[in-house]
Amino acid sequence: MKIDLNLPLFPTTSVGSFPKPEYLATARAQFYRNEISREALLALEEQATREFILLQERVGLDVLVDGEAERGDMATFFAEKMNGFKISEPVRSYGNRYYKKPRIVSAIEFREPMTKHFFEYAQKLTSKPVKGMLTGPYTMMDWSFNEFYGSREEVVRAFAKVLREEAIELMKAGCKIIQVDEPALSVRSDEIELAAEGLRLVLDGLEMYSITHICYGAFEFLAPKIHLLPVDQIDLEFAGRDFELLEQLRGHEFPQDVGLGVYDVHTHKITPQAKIEEYIAKALTFFRPEQIWVDPDCGLKTRTFEESEKGLAEMVAATKAARLSNK
Ligand SMILES: [Zn+2]
Repeated sequence: MKIDLNLPLFPTTSVGSFPKPEYLATARAQFYRNEISREALLALEEQATREFILLQERVGLDVLVDGEAERGDMATFFAEKMNGFKISEPVRSYGNRYYKKPRIVSAIEFREPMTKHFFEYAQKLTSKPVKGMLTGPYTMMDWSFNEFYGSREEVVRAFAKVLREEAIELMKAGCKIIQVDEPALSVRSDEIELAAEGLRLVLDGLEMYSITHICYGAFEFLAPKIHLLPVDQIDLEFAGRDFELLEQLRGHEFPQDVGLGVYDVHTHKITPQAKIEEYIAKALTFFRPEQIWVDPDCGLKTRTFEESEKGLAEMVAATKAARLSNK
C-alpha cells in the first residue's frame, strides 16, 4: 500500500544482503561444532549488523537494510524457524554449490518471529527507514521439497499465511517498507499468477510500502505479465545485461515503481558513476521520475566489504547528479 515515506526523488537502497565478515563465518562454524553458545554467535551477528548500518550511513543511502548477518540460504533460514519442516542433507545446485533444502513434512505453521529481532536492532541504530526483508511464498515453495500438501498452490497458500504473520510482526515493530523477494520467479515465469496470489495473501491491506525483488531470468515471458504482481515496487537487475531488460519491458504495462538495478554485482568491476548516470537517463525514456528507486542489481553478499562500499558510493553520487538534472 502506497504510504507517505518522505523520501527524495530516486530513493537509494540496497537489495538486502551484505558481505559477511570473516569472523562471522568462523563463529558460525564454531557454533555448529558446539564450541560457542548461541548468545556468543548472536553478539557477533549484531556486531556485523552495526558495521552494515555504519557502511550504509557513510555512503548515504536513503533506505537501509539490516544486511542479513544471521541468514544463510534464503529459504532454509525461514523454514528452520517455522513448524512443518525437516531440513535435508546438503543438495547440489549450480555446479559445485551445496545447500540444505527444507522438506515439508507436516502443516506449515508460524512458530516465532523470524526477522523481527534484526529489523528492530538495525532500526534502533539509524534514523533512516530500514526495510523488512522476507523470502516470498512462491520462492519458499519452489525451493522446498513438498512431502505433505497436495499441490503447489496449497504450499504457496500455507507459506503466505505464515509470512503474513511475520509481516504483521514487522509492521507492529514500526516497519514501513517491506520487501518480499521472489527470485524463483526468474526461472518459473509460467507461474507468475501463483506468485501474485501468494504476494497478495501476504500483503493485502497492510500499511507498508511493498517491494519484490526478482533476479535476472526469462524476462521475455515475465515482461507481459509483470503488471500482475500486487506490490508497490518491482526491483530488477538492469545493469548486468547493460539495460537490455529495458527493451524487453517496452510496450508492456509497468504501473508499479521500479527498483532500478544500476550496479552490476556479478563482477568485481565497480560500475562507475558516469555509467550509472547514463543508466538513469536511459530508464527515464520508459519510467516516470517518481517511479524510480536506485539500487544494486542484487544482494551484495558475493562482493567484498570494500567493493560494496565503493560501488554504493558511485551509485549515490550518480543519483545525486541525476536529482539535480531532473529537478
Ligand atoms: Zn537478485
